[in-house]
Amino acid sequence: MYKDKNYFEGLFCGVKSICIGLKTTMREFFTKKITEQYPENRKELKMFDRFRGSLVMPHNEKNEHKCVACGICQMQCPNDTINVVSEMVEVDGKKKKQLVRYEYNLGSCMFCMLCVTACPHKAITFDQSFENAVFDRSKLIKVLNKPGSKVEEKPVVKKTAPAPAAKPAETPAEAPKPEAVAPKTAEEQPRIEAVAAKTEVEQPKPEAVAAPKEETTKVEQPETEKAAE
Ligand code: SF4
Ligand code: SF4
Repeated sequence: MYKDKNYFEGLFCGVKSICIGLKTTMREFFTKKITEQYPENRKELKMFDRFRGSLVMPHNEKNEHKCVACGICQMQCPNDTINVVSEMVEVDGKKKKQLVRYEYNLGSCMFCMLCVTACPHKAITFDQSFENAVFDRSKLIKVLNKPGSKVEEKPVVKKTAPAPAAKPAETPAEAPKPEAVAPKTAEEQPRIEAVAAKTEVEQPKPEAVAAPKEETTKVEQPETEKAAE
């Protein structure tokens, strides 16, 4: 009897365990798949927006970039990953710094993005490329400015003279008069007239000449006469 009890308990536990396993299998079978079949899906693969692939310097259709070779990004980089090579050129009689080579070493970059944040002209950013495997580490050093490119010219903003301030009214006659209160509805007309009549009545009157008060003096009799009486 004791052996039979152990047998049925074990059988029940085994069936229960199989059911729990099958339940997990069926749930995952119908759940949406998130596994990426790389490299088969290389064409339609899209990385997350926050992914930082490699530092790039965007150029417009005229082969112009926004880098003025100030070197702030180079100073901010904690790994000496950036090397800005510049030269001084004369433009319109003024000496100006010009970018010659913008070197970026992908092999030593830790993708902290300090350079992008520090750039005052938003000349560099990160793209989403990630296939950077090479057999020689020297190939990870990239020149970001394209051959023949130049810095983008900023549009010249013409300064306009400030408009003269409006003159104050010279005489009281030029001062704006208060507008008359116009009745909005027919019902308000008699009420406005009544208020006008009341204000006329309440006009200050000329002060009436006050009549002099009569002085009443009481002649007191002497005390001796009072005693005789
Ligand atoms: S992301 Fe960081 S490590 Fe890479 S170049 Fe910019 S500042 Fe340097
Ligand atoms: S990328 Fe920006 S911070 Fe770096 S040198 Fe060019 S303008 Fe200056």
